[in-house]
Amino acid sequence: MNRRNIIIIGVLCLLAVPSLYFGLKKVQESKKTVQISVTDLQENNDNQQAEEEAKPIEKNINNDNAEVAENQEKEIAAPKTPEKIIEEKKVEPKKTNPPVPADEEVKVEAGKIVDKLISWGFTKSSGRTIDTVIVHSSYDALGDDPYSVSGIIAEYKQYNVSAHYLIARDGTAYRLVTDQNIAWHAGVSKVPDGRTNVNDFSIGIEMINTKDGKYTDDQYAALNSLIVTLKKKYKIKYILGHNEIAPDRKTDPWGIEWNKVNR
Ligand SMILES: [Zn+2]
Repeated sequence: MNRRNIIIIGVLCLLAVPSLYFGLKKVQESKKTVQISVTDLQENNDNQQAEEEAKPIEKNINNDNAEVAENQEKEIAAPKTPEKIIEEKKVEPKKTNPPVPADEEVKVEAGKIVDKLISWGFTKSSGRTIDTVIVHSSYDALGDDPYSVSGIIAEYKQYNVSAHYLIARDGTAYRLVTDQNIAWHAGVSKVPDGRTNVNDFSIGIEMINTKDGKYTDDQYAALNSLIVTLKKKYKIKYILGHNEIAPDRKTDPWGIEWNKVNR
């Protein structure tokens, strides 16, 4: 072999290495393409199947919710302006009632009458003549809170007694018995004109107070407001304390300042 031939073989070898490399690479790439094509086809096939399965459901939904779709279209046609959204946001809190803190008493107007009718401690009546108001006081001796409205009512139940109205410390007047029914509040008693069975012709008002406590201004306001209402409805002859109609038995209404009462 002469030198020239050696050079030619060398050059050919040099040319052959990249050709081989690129040739192999091309083959690998084409394999890959085939693989991708196959998987793509499989995927497409799966999608198509899924689409075909979903189509009838979609159709049903469309039919059922034709109206909704229409509305949605309308909404899309008229997009909300930023002002509108702000307006809606402002209105939203009004829809829900603000939460009332459990331990905070809701302030009510003194003298407001709230019905809390009870089922014991009175005789049913209609058309009786009312001309007397008897003021009492009571507190809850059994519970933790002597001013507890529910506690006092529970005590009335226990003793099978009642009053027409119970004025709480905040000035709320709870109506326990309607005016026409005879509440059992006075017991053995006598008014200055000599009549007995005072329950028969009187309205009984209980004021929540302990034996050595003072009445609140709201309670006086409520009592006076109630007296005004009763005077409008009935020809009131007497407004007296329980102690004034049963002096040897009763001491309530404890600590009442009659100069604050319009009697
Ligand atoms: Zn009394």
